[in-house]
Amino acid sequence: MTATATRHTEILVVGAGPAGLAAATAAASAGAQVTVLDDNPGPGGQIWRSGIASASIAIDPARENAIREFRESNASLLPGRRAIDSQQPRTLRAFVEETGVIETITWDRLILATGARERFLPFPGWTLPGVFGAGGLQALVKGGYTIAGKRVVVAGSGPLLLAVAAHLQEDGAEIVTIAEQATLGSMLPFAIKLLSHPAKLMQGARYRATLSHVPYRTGCWPLAVEGTGKLAAVRLTDGTNTWTEPCDLLACGFHLVPNTELAVLLGCELHDDCVVVDATQRTTLEDVFSVGEPTGIAGLDAALVQGKIAGLAATNQATQAKALYKKRNREEAFGKALDRAFALRPELRSLAQPDTIVCRCEDVRFAQLQSQPSWTDAKLQTRCGMGACQGRICGAAVQTLFGWRNTSIRPPIFPVPLSALLSAPTSNEITQLQEPS
Ligand SMILES: Cc1cc2nc3c(=O)[nH]c(=O)nc-3n(C[C@H](O)[C@H](O)[C@H](O)COP(=O)(O)OP(=O)(O)OC[C@H]3O[C@@H](n4cnc5c(N)ncnc54)[C@H](O)[C@@H]3O)c2cc1C
Repeated sequence: MTATATRHTEILVVGAGPAGLAAATAAASAGAQVTVLDDNPGPGGQIWRSGIASASIAIDPARENAIREFRESNASLLPGRRAIDSQQPRTLRAFVEETGVIETITWDRLILATGARERFLPFPGWTLPGVFGAGGLQALVKGGYTIAGKRVVVAGSGPLLLAVAAHLQEDGAEIVTIAEQATLGSMLPFAIKLLSHPAKLMQGARYRATLSHVPYRTGCWPLAVEGTGKLAAVRLTDGTNTWTEPCDLLACGFHLVPNTELAVLLGCELHDDCVVVDATQRTTLEDVFSVGEPTGIAGLDAALVQGKIAGLAATNQATQAKALYKKRNREEAFGKALDRAFALRPELRSLAQPDTIVCRCEDVRFAQLQSQPSWTDAKLQTRCGMGACQGRICGAAVQTLFGWRNTSIRPPIFPVPLSALLSAPTSNEITQLQEPS
């Protein structure tokens, strides 16, 4: 047997973002044995990602509280591990980056808190150096990438744009403009809804105050990136006028897409691209719960309360869980308002030109995809979605451009070195390990 490990836990949580941490802390409070695994080196997920460059992270009291409560609970964290597949019932395999081996974890109940990723849409020049995902650039800066003095255009859609712009500016960037594709009209009902969420309203107002000198243009979107070899400027339009903004970097993302690959692989049902859950956050599989962004993009507060409900429900604390339903439902309604406010405009479907790359892993261009009847055909004929990201980036793009949905998820859901796969125990060996000697 190679240096692989098999361990058992009563409750396994995948994802140590706000939702996973809340779920683990609540479940551990009932005395359950809880293990959390995450591919990052520490807890926090996207919003609470730890870093070395940003002064603003350390003073977030919500983050400090959640991580302290988690550390004080008996839940244990397995960082630097990526759940890749499930070969047997109640079993997950995780690839350990540091050691290059695959660990097998068996569980009684599973809570999927795998978060979301940014949606990227192709337009001419979007693959040039200097173009980043908005949240991706923020994560790089949190990790130490120096942005001081750089002129940055922030574009795309969703509340993340404001958060990213404020954060980048705090780290010394000059934000040239923020281009939000949604119209003021579609955002107005959302703004009114914010009145009943004063904390969120205050947060938005703080971002706007920080960025008071930066134009926030609604109904405005990127047409193309200009530059030879790297980005030099972004061409923007409001549908009537088109102009060019010279800049060093473009931070661009069109709201978020739920990470549902693991849920689909396990057999959980989806509706509208989100994991279907009942009032207790239980999926269509008896012992599998899902919380946070995989169940719908609704923000931090939704992630926290959903996590808590699932942690309580998974440890038979139904009454305590029920007491939180009202708050959860309110946060989910906020998420629905978010979806409506930042719905993508049809013009974004016609930004790509025949030679625009859509699948950047396999260099598949828009013209190659136009004649394909489905994503399966596109995959077979062009290799679209079959590269290293396994369709995580182009999948959301082709869904927007052509209406194709990826219905087949294949293990491993993340690339894993062949050496690790070859040295992992077989199903029979795992069964032998699980049997009492
Ligand atoms: C790039 C990005 C940046 C964001 N920045 C902000 C921000 O600045 N402000 C803000 O208000 N909101 C931000 N958000 C939104 C914010 O993440 C959500 O509102 C909310 O906090 C989500 O919590 P969560 O626990 O559901 O997911 P997340 O915080 O995304 O946590 C999910 C965790 O699961 C891990 N994971 C996923 N799949 C696996 C797997 N197979 N194996 C192991 N680990 C896995 C992920 O790496 C991640 O750590 C951001 C979102 C994204 C995608």
